[in-house]
Amino acid sequence: MKTEVVSVDVLSPEKSKDDIIRAAEIIKGGGLVVFPTETVYGLGGDGTNPDAARKIYAAKGRPGDNPLIIHIARPEDAEKYAETTEIYFKLAKRFMPGPLTVILKSKGSVPRETRGGLDTVAVRCPENKIARLLIEYSGVAIAAPSANLSGSPSPTTARHVIDDMMDRVDMIIDGGECEFGLESTIVKIDSDNSLTLLRPGKITVAELSEIADVRIAPAVLDKLQENEVALSPGMKYRHYAPKAPLVLLNGDIEEQLRYIREEDISGIAYISYTEDAEFLKKENPNMPIYDLGSKNDELTQAHRLFYILREADKCGYKRIYAPLPNTDGVGLALYNRMIRAAAHTIINLRR
Ligand code: AMP
Ligand code: MG
Repeated sequence: MKTEVVSVDVLSPEKSKDDIIRAAEIIKGGGLVVFPTETVYGLGGDGTNPDAARKIYAAKGRPGDNPLIIHIARPEDAEKYAETTEIYFKLAKRFMPGPLTVILKSKGSVPRETRGGLDTVAVRCPENKIARLLIEYSGVAIAAPSANLSGSPSPTTARHVIDDMMDRVDMIIDGGECEFGLESTIVKIDSDNSLTLLRPGKITVAELSEIADVRIAPAVLDKLQENEVALSPGMKYRHYAPKAPLVLLNGDIEEQLRYIREEDISGIAYISYTEDAEFLKKENPNMPIYDLGSKNDELTQAHRLFYILREADKCGYKRIYAPLPNTDGVGLALYNRMIRAAAHTIINLRR
């Protein structure tokens, strides 16, 4: 398959209306289009077409039991595809359009292929202008998982999409860097109208708690236990796994320095907070260091994390060290992605 790449300015996508209409025609015709969102790039197909869902799974190399999120142009469009509730509309009013995905009971208009066989469907109304126009012109909900090959970090730039998806999809829309850089927050509405957080993201637990009580699914913070059923099927798969093993160090910079002093650090790279980089450089001037951003600037860290993991992966390191993030606010999303990328390898240096 030949992939067409088109560039669209996210600030004025109307200027590229013809390209976006052509992309919408591809979606309507059962084809695949990669498009930018404010979280990560999405690999889109018609959410009501089982063949499109099959093509998405094939292009990603994703297991067919890991369901897709459907993207809608307006929060109220959810009614065409799912059973909406009062709490859904409360969430929608506060957070949509934006990086929140809500799990609802599915209606028959969403085929089981899109739902990965579940009786629920994940619904999101993105904020990115290119995404919104594409959905609008397509006239259907667009099923879209992250546009990476299964197992590699979600792409946040068109370059990284091209690395994974060239000749696997009909079109790639290059809309520049994704603003946030980690996937959406996912919540499930429980029968008592409380929420279960299935995946942390930019919308934090504190923000969600203003709408309803929030329970954090255990797999967000930890490994899925043996015999535990994954509330969100994606949780059971190894995720965002870099080729070089990632090792998370739980300790301040002094404790980290003391630790690496004892280790053989040839062939090793470091993902570091901006403030810590000078100490690491002093310790070992030859060690490659990737700047994750300032310690208290979780938004910059979120924006850079997947980009860094992908770039570091091209360099053939033996091992990559990174600090274990705290779990406050957006930190929870970083923590959740990093423990998965590290396959839960955490070294506790705290005394
Ligand atoms: P991605 O599309 O790569 O952002 O991944 C979508 C995530 O949403 C995966 O972890 C899925 O398991 C999860 N998901 C999608 N649909 C559902 C659903 N109906 N119930 C629970 N989780 C879902
Ligand atoms: Mg994904």
